[in-house]
Order: sequence, then structure tokens, then C-alpha cells
Amino acid sequence: MQLQGKVAVVTGAASGLGHEIARTYLREGAKVVIADLKGAEEAAKNLDLSGENAIGVAMDVTDERQVGDGIDRAAEAFGRVDILVSNAGIQIVAPVETLAFDQWRKLMAVHVDGAFLTTRAALRHMYKQGTGGSIIYMGSVHSKEASKLKAPYVAAKHALEGLAKVVAKEGAEHNVRANVICPGFVRTPLVEKQIPEQAKELGISEADVVKNVMLRETVDGEFTTAEDIADVALFFAAFKTNALTGQSIVASHGWFMQ
Ligand code: NAD
Repeated sequence: MQLQGKVAVVTGAASGLGHEIARTYLREGAKVVIADLKGAEEAAKNLDLSGENAIGVAMDVTDERQVGDGIDRAAEAFGRVDILVSNAGIQIVAPVETLAFDQWRKLMAVHVDGAFLTTRAALRHMYKQGTGGSIIYMGSVHSKEASKLKAPYVAAKHALEGLAKVVAKEGAEHNVRANVICPGFVRTPLVEKQIPEQAKELGISEADVVKNVMLRETVDGEFTTAEDIADVALFFAAFKTNALTGQSIVASHGWFMQ
């Protein structure tokens, strides 16, 4: 029970990595707020039928007011906010040459504006509480490396590393840590959708996208799992001192090595 007494807000937790992180945090004794565009309440019920330890909050992370209200609601429901996992995300696959500006802006808004708005709202509670906190950003191997067809995603994921470092510096006097998880490919709905899209753009089969694009640089040709990423999210959340702040951990079967 590494998170007993802690309250965590996880964005994008109705699906994929966020959902698995919420499950792990609940198992470790935290109260968890599942914030998502859609399906938040169902996801919370799915993880905690009693409603005592998990609640769902409808939140578009790009909307300043919804984020403010949602984080306040979390604090009202469970009395405090100790952990934020800024995880909500989307993917848009297209070459720069044909990428529409509104698509660029949409992706940047979810990943970068969303990280800023949720961080700001969570910090206000953490600073006031005076008991520290942990902010965790869902980066990617694309916080370190580039791939064709993913310009806004790669730019946004690099930006999260910069934000985490600033929050680590500003948060230190309040014992608030900020770190980034950088997963390799995990078979969530976000990735399942990209496989046919990339196959079409690159003119190769879906099997080739998996083997020769997504997993080519791994040490063993294996996907990372949601459980792997939830373990890293637990490690960051439960870490007790400022020794581990402003850092990123890459969990990618060796696709990227620091
Ligand atoms: P997913 O599609 O399964 O889940 C993403 C969730 O984010 C969905 O529930 C969706 O409703 C929510 N969301 C999207 N836009 C939102 C918004 N504006 N406001 C609130 N919620 C919103 O995807 P996933 O693979 O679990 O991705 C989660 C995070 O992990 C993303 O930031 C993604 O970039 C990152 N990531 C995923 C992988 C991977 O291989 N799956 C690898 C590296 C990083």
C-alpha cells in the first residue's frame, strides 16, 4: 500500500495507460479521480463499484474552466490533491507538408495546453496544502526521438520535458516533484488506430508497421505493456524525496537508450 492516504487525479483515465495507472493507484491505497472527455464515470465504477475510492469527472483538458472545476471537484470529494498524472492524449498521423493547421493546434492543445492547465490547477492545491506532491507527465520515446508523420506529437512530447523541468525547479520549495514517463509502443486504442493509418501513409502492410516501424529498434521485438507503465507511474508517485525530480524514465524495450 504505497499510496495510502494519497489523492491522485489521472487525466485520460477512461482508457489505455491512464486507466491502468488508476487501477494500480487504487490497489496501492490511493483515492483516484478519473478525468476524461468521455466515459469517466463508467471507468470509475468499473474500478471501484462502491464509489468511495474512485470518482469520474468529465473534463476536456484543453478547457481552462473545466480543468479548474474538475481539479477543485477532486479536492472537494477527497479533501486534497497529492498526485497529478497528466496523461490525456491523442495522435494525428500525417506528413508536415499536408498537415492541416487546425490538426496541429488540436494536438498541441490536448498535450501541451492540457499539461499546463492541469498542472497549474493541481499546484494551487498542492502549494496550499503544504505537504508536497508529485506531478507526472505522460511523455513518450517521442520526447527523445522523432518519427516521420508525427510532427505535432513529437513537438508536444518534447515540450512536456521542458515543462517538467520548470515545474521541478519551481515546485522544489514546496516539495512538489515533476517527472516524465516515456513509454515505447503500448497496444492501447491510440496505437491500434495508428497501425492501419501508418500502413496507408507508408504503403506497407499492417504487420510491417508493427515489426519494421513500431518495434524495429526494440531489443526484443516486444510491445511495452500498460502494466509496465503503471509500475513506473507508481514508482514516481510513491518516491519520497526531491532526489528524483525533473527526470524522465524511458520504458520501451530498449527502443531508446539514455
Ligand atoms: P487512449 O486513446 O487509450 O487513451 C487516451 C485517453 O485520453 C482517452 O480516454 C481519451 O478520451 C482521453 N482524452 C483525449 N483528449 C482528451 C481531452 N481533450 N481531455 C480529456 N481527455 C482526453 O491512449 P493511450 O495510449 O492510453 O495514451 C495515453 C497517453 O500515453 C497519451 O498522452 C499518449 O500520447 C501517451 N503514450 C502512449 C503510448 C502508446 O504506445 N499507447 C506511447 C507513448 C505515450
